[in-house]
Amino acid sequence: MRRQRRRRKSKQQNKWFMTVMVAVVLLIGSWLSGGSLEWDSMKGWLSGEIGDFAQGDATTQVDGEGRLRVIFLDVGQGASQLIISPEGKTMLIDGGNNDKEELMLSYLARYGVKRLDILIGTHPDADHIGGLDKVVDHLEIGDIYMPRIQANTKTYQSLLESIQRKGLKVKTAKAGLDLAFGEQVRVKMLAPVATTDDSNNMSAVVKLNYGSASYLLTGDAGSESEQAMIESGANLHADVMLVGHHGSKSSTTQRFLQLVQPTYAVIQVGPNSYGHPTQTILNRLDKQNVQTYRNDTQGTVEITTDGRDYQITTEK
Ligand SMILES: [Zn+2]
Repeated sequence: MRRQRRRRKSKQQNKWFMTVMVAVVLLIGSWLSGGSLEWDSMKGWLSGEIGDFAQGDATTQVDGEGRLRVIFLDVGQGASQLIISPEGKTMLIDGGNNDKEELMLSYLARYGVKRLDILIGTHPDADHIGGLDKVVDHLEIGDIYMPRIQANTKTYQSLLESIQRKGLKVKTAKAGLDLAFGEQVRVKMLAPVATTDDSNNMSAVVKLNYGSASYLLTGDAGSESEQAMIESGANLHADVMLVGHHGSKSSTTQRFLQLVQPTYAVIQVGPNSYGHPTQTILNRLDKQNVQTYRNDTQGTVEITTDGRDYQITTEK
């Protein structure tokens, strides 16, 4: 997608005459050589903004339209969140299971994403990183974050190989990191706080702030990680919360939910044999009057904000 360039008023008629003449010469030259000059590039060049245009085109290819978009992609039983900042920066947290590779690529194409400024694999479980190898293969990637925990699975190996083939390096996901994601949205990592052998409890947990709006994206962090986040003293409150571990009762403890105090929650879940989401967690959310959305019944859920108010759209 191409961003429209704003027009600049020229104060000097002479300058206009010159630019028109140059444009005519360029167009004729282009026609003669059998090519075509794109009008957008021309405008950029004419207004002296071509340098800025070229740079902008390389780093932002989607139009954030001044809003922060957080899209909870329906990947069945698994998780994936696509984030598009008001200035068009892009971040992907997780990418569903192995059989969702093509689906992930088609989602990213649908939202016009060709480059991911940040890619986060919350933890090495297949329902989170399974689709990421193809994403790395096919898209331009900026920073990659994953927690420092090994997994002897083909899925994990395949992702590491894709990363290696591209010559990219993995940065360690851990509590306290501030991630560079443009000027307007603050991205902070709240977990993992401590190192543990438990993959779920090593999940990268990400907090987004834009204006007075806030989101907490929890991966599969369980009660152990929730307790560590509470003890870390981090500000856990968020208006929008991804319910931990697909609504399993090993996450979303009473104390944690009280501190986050979300208005909206999303459960990323599909058909499964684990009993996700559990009635315990659904009741807990209900009791705290949290408005809850689910991928299995509503398809992809998008929660967008202008920095104050939220707009929620569901696929079904
Ligand atoms: Zn999971």
